[in-house]
Amino acid sequence: MAVFGLVDVGGTKTMTGIWRDGAMVAVEKQPTAIGGGGDGTVAVVAASIKRLLRERHLDVGELVGIGVAVPGPLDLDRGLVRYAANLGWVDYPFIERLSQAFPGVAIAMDDDSRCAAWGEALHGAGQEFPIVWYTTVSTGIGSGLIIEGKPYRGAQLMAGELGHITIDLAGPVCACGKRGCLETLASGPAMARHFYEMRGLTGIPLSAENVFRALRTGDGEARAVVSRAMQYLAMALSYVVHLVNPDILVLGGGIVVHQGDLLLPMLRREMRGHILSVQDTHLLLRPAQLGEQAGLWGAYELIASHVQGRGISDRP
Ligand SMILES: [Zn+2]
Repeated sequence: MAVFGLVDVGGTKTMTGIWRDGAMVAVEKQPTAIGGGGDGTVAVVAASIKRLLRERHLDVGELVGIGVAVPGPLDLDRGLVRYAANLGWVDYPFIERLSQAFPGVAIAMDDDSRCAAWGEALHGAGQEFPIVWYTTVSTGIGSGLIIEGKPYRGAQLMAGELGHITIDLAGPVCACGKRGCLETLASGPAMARHFYEMRGLTGIPLSAENVFRALRTGDGEARAVVSRAMQYLAMALSYVVHLVNPDILVLGGGIVVHQGDLLLPMLRREMRGHILSVQDTHLLLRPAQLGEQAGLWGAYELIASHVQGRGISDRP
């Protein structure tokens, strides 16, 4: 069995892990080094993997490969993160830079939402289901589609950009430059912005936690804000149901991990208004099971299938 390093770089936190003998044996979570740029993040990630290996009495030489989940869009031919708005990276050569810290070690990279989808499909809420759609709701909104255990990536590796479908022609301007993207209406910051506008609050960081804290005390405005966001998300997910007809919709990401007990029943109710009754009968909407580690589990699947293509097998 092989030893793998695993990486999941998010907008606020970076997860690293070590996989050995068919199990995740170490996980570390750190804040993402926003100020340090891509090189700062690579340095943090490389040091973390080496530290975790050392703590498990493993040598860097035993490392067969590293699987990396990063925010897309990506250019996998050149190993670039094309554009990561939250991190401030443009055409950052992540694979090349990480290779400098691990010479000779195979590295594979993919979109973070797709990796989380892959992890949930094979090791979490989507196990046993052939067609799994995963959507993450946190700072942004991302998705992944896993069919028969394999990710569907699309022609330009852009499949699953649910956050940027137009959901309101007159909606707010998105970071992508378009107007009314789902992400501007149903993400964590979107809910916070809407709530602050209603309350006339200014000068505080956009945090959805403030909305949910108010909602849990029975605040009517907070309920209206979250309810509207779930209406938009339900519309978007109904498109998925109509287009893809998945066996299961898995909802993950920070907001769902912490507020899923409130959100999922609202979302399920709203979806009923947008899908056919026969679809409604079969619809499974479940919370993700792997929490913050979903991306790492997907990164494992990514690197394991990558090295398998080179004749190295980690499969029992
Ligand atoms: Zn957008």
